[in-house]
Amino acid sequence: MRTAEVVIVGGGIVGSSIAYHLAEQGCRDVLVLEREAHQGLGSTGKSMGGVRAQFATDVNIRMSLYSIPFISRFEELTGQPTGYKPHGYLFAATTDAHLDYLRTNLARQQALGLTQARMLTREEIVSVLPQIRSDDILGGSLCPTDGFVDPHSLMTGFMTVAGQHGATLQRSVAVRRIVTDHGAVTGVETDKEPIATRVVVNAAGVWAAELAKSAGADLPIKPLRRSLIPTEPFPGIPDRLPMIIDMSNGFHFRPEGVGLLLSWNDPEEQYGYRTGFDPAFIEKVLTRAADRVPAFADLAVNPRRCWSGMYDMSPDKHSILGPAPEVRGLYYANGFSGHGVMHSPATGKIVADLILQGKTDLIDSSVLSVERFSQGRAIHETAVL
Ligand SMILES: Cc1cc2nc3c(=O)[nH]c(=O)nc-3n(C[C@H](O)[C@H](O)[C@H](O)COP(=O)(O)OP(=O)(O)OC[C@H]3O[C@@H](n4cnc5c(N)ncnc54)[C@H](O)[C@@H]3O)c2cc1C
Repeated sequence: MRTAEVVIVGGGIVGSSIAYHLAEQGCRDVLVLEREAHQGLGSTGKSMGGVRAQFATDVNIRMSLYSIPFISRFEELTGQPTGYKPHGYLFAATTDAHLDYLRTNLARQQALGLTQARMLTREEIVSVLPQIRSDDILGGSLCPTDGFVDPHSLMTGFMTVAGQHGATLQRSVAVRRIVTDHGAVTGVETDKEPIATRVVVNAAGVWAAELAKSAGADLPIKPLRRSLIPTEPFPGIPDRLPMIIDMSNGFHFRPEGVGLLLSWNDPEEQYGYRTGFDPAFIEKVLTRAADRVPAFADLAVNPRRCWSGMYDMSPDKHSILGPAPEVRGLYYANGFSGHGVMHSPATGKIVADLILQGKTDLIDSSVLSVERFSQGRAIHETAVL
């Protein structure tokens, strides 16, 4: 029977980063199984590509403090492009409570070593985007090393380098179940051949809960649709525009080519496997866009170019990383709640460390263990877009 030291189920950006980090640490017999004919057909290919260190919790900040410098050096180190554009994330506050929140987060980020983030005045925000309506803006925060990447490039870059070190990607192979014996992983059953292994990494994105269940393990994640609206070319936007977040309602946008990419977290969205784009979303977003930037009343949108994908939501909007308590040899890399692209480098390192050494020095890994939910240690992240 075919064997592998580690089988990773899912060839999205997370599975690819884990393969890269395992290979980099000398674990060469790594097999990534992806059921689609191409990588990136899950959430990775649908992402907005935002990367930021401006979070509210220590663990998310620490993961970004590993991931963003990693991304900024990746091309130089490996020759693989990432499309990293350090344009920044700019949070625009419209209430005193928002400003207090940003100041508290900033103090936490600075204490952990993020030196580049700072508070902004209203005037500074207007200088970033002169067309912004600023009468209710009280100030904000900006971190210039935040920005955007091309998720597809980073994902294929991870996999290419992992392949150069011996890892194998097999596409068009669906894992039907994880096979266990006496509470330990012994292999995976696929729609092709069975594979014997003692270690399985669940990197199956929004489909991860079913995969865990096949091994008798309980993984509390749920899919939630998210939609993006690319606009037609829009002249007059400053060259290095950051991602701008209107904290009054969560509307956010960033430059994309010669147009913009717009998004908003629709509170009416319900959990479920839905990826069809609802054209009614366009009006909801354009209303908010024109409210914050009156010139955006002229934005043109082609509904056929809009798309939806899914976030893999965990109960506390933090990822779930590390061993599954019920099944020896099963590891989770799931529940990214909208941050899986930006945290893919840290995730790869943490999961590879846990598999190969049983510990990591990047974070306190117990904080992201799945047991946190049954042990009353959930950690709530409020800075979710
Ligand atoms: C609209 C939108 C905007 C987003 N914006 C951002 C952003 O700005 N920044 C950010 O960091 N994140 C963002 N995200 C979230 C980000 O895209 C995800 O967190 C990330 O892509 C998760 O990567 P993944 O590899 O875990 O999952 P996926 O990319 O979904 O990969 C999982 C893979 O597993 C495969 N698979 C599943 N089951 C099996 C099986 N049984 N056998 C074999 N293969 C299987 C699937 O085919 C898939 O390719 C966004 C997401 C969406 C939808």
